[in-house]
Amino acid sequence: MRPTIAIIGAGFGGLCMAIQLEKAGIRSYTIFEKGDNVGGTWRDNTYPGAGCDIPSHLYSFSFEKYSSWTRRFPEQPEILGYLEKCADKYGVRPRLRLNTAVVAATFEESLGKWRVRTAARDELFDVVVSAVGQLNRPQLPDIPGMSTFNGTAFHSARWDHSFDLTGKRVAVIGSGSSAAQLIPKVAEVADHLDVFQRTPNWVIPKADAVFGAGARAAFRHVPFLQRAYREWIYRYVESTLYPALAGGWSSGPLCKRALDHLHDQVPDPLLRAKLTPDYPIGCKRVVADSKFYPALTRPKVDVVTDRITRIVPGGVETAAGLREADAIVYATGFQTSDFLASIQVTGRGGRHLAEEWKDGAEAYLGIAVPHFPNLFLLYGPNTNLGHSSIVFMIECQVRYIMGCLPQLAARGPMEVRPETMATWRRNLEAAMGRMVWQAGCTSWYKNAAGRVTNNWPGTTTAYRRITRAPRPDAFQFSH
Ligand code: NAP
Repeated sequence: MRPTIAIIGAGFGGLCMAIQLEKAGIRSYTIFEKGDNVGGTWRDNTYPGAGCDIPSHLYSFSFEKYSSWTRRFPEQPEILGYLEKCADKYGVRPRLRLNTAVVAATFEESLGKWRVRTAARDELFDVVVSAVGQLNRPQLPDIPGMSTFNGTAFHSARWDHSFDLTGKRVAVIGSGSSAAQLIPKVAEVADHLDVFQRTPNWVIPKADAVFGAGARAAFRHVPFLQRAYREWIYRYVESTLYPALAGGWSSGPLCKRALDHLHDQVPDPLLRAKLTPDYPIGCKRVVADSKFYPALTRPKVDVVTDRITRIVPGGVETAAGLREADAIVYATGFQTSDFLASIQVTGRGGRHLAEEWKDGAEAYLGIAVPHFPNLFLLYGPNTNLGHSSIVFMIECQVRYIMGCLPQLAARGPMEVRPETMATWRRNLEAAMGRMVWQAGCTSWYKNAAGRVTNNWPGTTTAYRRITRAPRPDAFQFSH
C-alpha cells in the first residue's frame, strides 16, 4: 500500500519531504502551501539586506549541492531561487497547491486517516507532515496607539516595497537578526533613522566573501572540493560554536570576539555601553553581521533605549519624549512557541494539539506526538539551532519519516508511545539544564512560561544519530 501524504508548507521542510518522496517513486502526496510560491520564510522575508548567516554551502540540501552560490553567505533572492530550482528539478510542482491554507486536520479513528480541511474542501490522507516552520507568523508588538500612526508601518517579514523610505524619518523597532540586516540598508536612504533597542544583542563579525567565477568553476568541476568545504563548515560550527551554547570552552573566545568587534566598529564609549549585552553570549540568538554597528555610528542614526510608551500619529513616544517618524518598521520577530497554531489539529480521542501543548509544545525527536497517529513534524519543537544549519536537521527528520512510511504501511497508523515520550522529555530536560538559553534572558526560544520549546540542546551529530531510523518499539501500531 502506498500511503497518501499531505505535506503542509513548501519551504525548505516541505520541499525536502516532497523531493525524497519523488526520489523514492512515491507520488501519492500533495503539498498545501498558503502562499503564492514555494520558499517559506525565504519567500516572506524580502526586506532589504535579507540573507542567511549560515554559509550557503551548508545552508542547502546535501543531495542538491549548488556550485553557483555567488557568496559565502547567501542573500534572500539567491536562496529563494535555489528552492525554486529544486522544486522544478525534482518535479514537485504538479503536486503543489499554492494559495491553499490548511485550516484543520482531524484524525478519523474509524478510517485510520486524516481529514485535511482547506477553505475549498475536505480530503483524506494516511499521513500528515507539517512543514510550517517556526518563523512564519510575524509578531507585532502590543504597544498602545499603534493604529493611530499617520505614516506607513509594516513588519520586517511583510515589507511594503511600494513605500520608498528615501529621505524619510524612519523608526525601526527591534534589534535582532532581521533588524541588524535591514538597518544598514535603511540607513543608506533614510533622512533619519531611530533604532529602538530594548535589549542589546551579542554581535559577531560575518566573514562574507564573494565566490568569483574561478571559485564557482572549481566547485562545479571538482565535486570533492565542494563536499570538503561543506564538511569543513559543518565541523567548524559544530566544534567551535556549539560548545559556547553548552557551557563549554568556546564561550570565552566567542564573547571576546564579539566585544572586540564592538570595540573595532563603535568608537563612541557611550554608544558602546548601550550596545553591550549583560547576559551570557548565546542566551539569545547571536547576531552575525559586519554592517550593523557601522550603520549605528552614522550621524543620522540614533540608538534609542528609552522605553517606548506609545505610538502616536506623528511617531514613537518614549519616556524621554516624541521621536517623529514617517515610517515604522516592526522588526519584532515571530510567534514562535505556539507551533501549528494556525491549524486546528485533532488527534485520537478528539484531543486538540493546542490543548496538549498548553504548557509548551513538545514532540518525540521533535517529530512525533502521542495520540496523534501518522502526524509527523518537520522543524518541530526543540529542533531549532543556535549554531548550525536547520536544513541539516530537516534532512534528518525527512529521512526518519521516510523510514516510518513502510512501517505504517504494513502495520497501520503509528503513534509514539506515551512512555517513549516521557523518557524523551526527561532526557531533553536534563540536557537543557546545561544550555546557555536558560540563563537570564528573554528570547524567542522560550514560551511565555520560560520553557525552551524551540531549541535542540545537543549537537547536530547527536541528532543525526538518534534520528537515523525509527525504532519500532518507540511506537504503537493499530494492527
Ligand atoms: P527576534 O530575534 O525575535 O528580534 C525581535 C526584536 O524585536 C528584539 O530586538 C526584541 O527585543 C524586539 N521587540 C519585540 N517586541 C518589542 C516591543 N514590544 N518593544 C520593543 N522591542 C521589541 O526577531 P528577528 O530579528 O526577526 O529574528 C528572528 C530569527 O529569525 C532570528 O533569531 C534568526 O533565527 C532568524 N533570522 C535569521 C537570519 C539569518 O541571518 N540567518 C536573519 C534574520 C532572521 P527583545 O530582545 O528585548 O525582546
